[in-house]
Amino acid sequence: MGWNLDNSYIHLPSIFYTTQRLNPVATPMLIKLNTSLATSLGLNTQLLQDEVAVLAGNAVPTGGFPIAQAYAGHQFGHFNMLGDGRALLLGEQLTSTGERFDIALKGSGRTAYSRGGDGRAALGPMLREYIISEAMFALGIPTTRSLAVVTTGETIFRETALTGAILTRVASSHLRVGTFQYAAHFGTDEELRALADYAISRHFPQIANTENRYLALLNEVIKKQAALIAKWQLVGFIHGVMNTDNMTISGETIDYGPCAFMDVYHPATVFSSIDRQGRYAYGNQPSIGGWNLARLAEALLPLIHDDEEQAIELAQETLQHYSQHYVNNWLAGMRAKLGIFNEEEQDIELVEELLKLMQQQQADYTNTFIALTFERFDSNLFQTHDFQAWLTKWQARLTRQTETQAMSQQLMKKHNPAVIPRNHRVEEALTAAVEHDDYSVMEQLLNIVAQPFAHTEEQQAYASPPSPSATPYRTFCGT
Ligand code: AMP
Ligand code: MG
Ligand code: MG
Repeated sequence: MGWNLDNSYIHLPSIFYTTQRLNPVATPMLIKLNTSLATSLGLNTQLLQDEVAVLAGNAVPTGGFPIAQAYAGHQFGHFNMLGDGRALLLGEQLTSTGERFDIALKGSGRTAYSRGGDGRAALGPMLREYIISEAMFALGIPTTRSLAVVTTGETIFRETALTGAILTRVASSHLRVGTFQYAAHFGTDEELRALADYAISRHFPQIANTENRYLALLNEVIKKQAALIAKWQLVGFIHGVMNTDNMTISGETIDYGPCAFMDVYHPATVFSSIDRQGRYAYGNQPSIGGWNLARLAEALLPLIHDDEEQAIELAQETLQHYSQHYVNNWLAGMRAKLGIFNEEEQDIELVEELLKLMQQQQADYTNTFIALTFERFDSNLFQTHDFQAWLTKWQARLTRQTETQAMSQQLMKKHNPAVIPRNHRVEEALTAAVEHDDYSVMEQLLNIVAQPFAHTEEQQAYASPPSPSATPYRTFCGT
């Protein structure tokens, strides 16, 4: 049980990465280790505790080969050359079951792609990524994961002086839509092809022998992202910075910067302080997903067909399926949230009517579904005439299937989380940790969000939304 690293990425053409020297930090200290994730990766937790130097970027793990990956991307609609400006890929851990996971450090110092940045990260945001990514995993949403957080013993400077930290991120790969944009923009067709073949062999080996495998690649990513974004919508997760460099080819959620969970249901909900236009608002996420996938399609055009017009036609035809995939995933999820097993055409209206009522009444998104699950109809929403009418329709709907009420409730309990990492709870945990060196609040929160579908007594305290008087929650990226 130890490092079993391979480095398949370095066999790609050299434009895709830069070999990176380590940027050692002063006095690394292990703050948080994800022991269950470590074990599932075949890593001995004692060994990881003894090897804090590796988790701090002070030493290369056995078999590792540190690189910074090159990529580009559309940031809020504008195309830029980017790359790992504060991250390092150490290698790919091969598990005993034959799976391959990137092991990357975030906050590990400057690279060839850092531009003006210091390459570093602060403790608060790294703990925040740890909490939210692990909560996402527990919610059953594909995501990069967090193996460890270490402090560096160094201070970093933003608006104020902050404690420096490094997060170890685990991902099924770090291939992004932006990696393909980079290849299309700065590379040759051969380099682009090498990247596409690599992505296929790593994530979609089943399409390797299809007739137009690059079109099939686009189709697979479309399906993955449609499924992912539907899952975000179903739990009220707002990514906050859906730039094309923050969208994976694997279909995992990546880059926990200004993300946050919605309390009151409203499609226009935005938390990110830099998203002034609401480009990445909750209700826009599905269409932004489509926009980003169109950028992937553009990047792949030279591989899809030698004739550009035919390539465009094929790509457009494939892109058209995205919205249907999205709606299918979303509606299936909504049916489950409402205890519905079979399909009726009007189900979508039933769901939309509920959402409209929630919006009108400023109802808490998560707790409304919990109230429906446990038939706790005491909030304002449920007193209204319109809601009573909806309830009657819903209850009638539940009789038009063979499954019992008890089975419906079981289904709802599996699809409606009792708890999400509420913003005020996350802040409370971070304040205790960062300002008072008290990690007990975070540990408790992690335990609670680790079992969102357990519906236990002790979770109730974590189910409350912030008080209405609380100032609007704002999130920041880049710290
Ligand atoms: P993000 O908004 O997190 O997706 O980051 C966009 C780009 O900025 C990526 O290329 C990051 O690597 C880079 N970046 C973010 N923070 C820093 C930093 N402190 N130093 C250098 N590069 C950074
Ligand atoms: Mg990013
Ligand atoms: Mg980021």
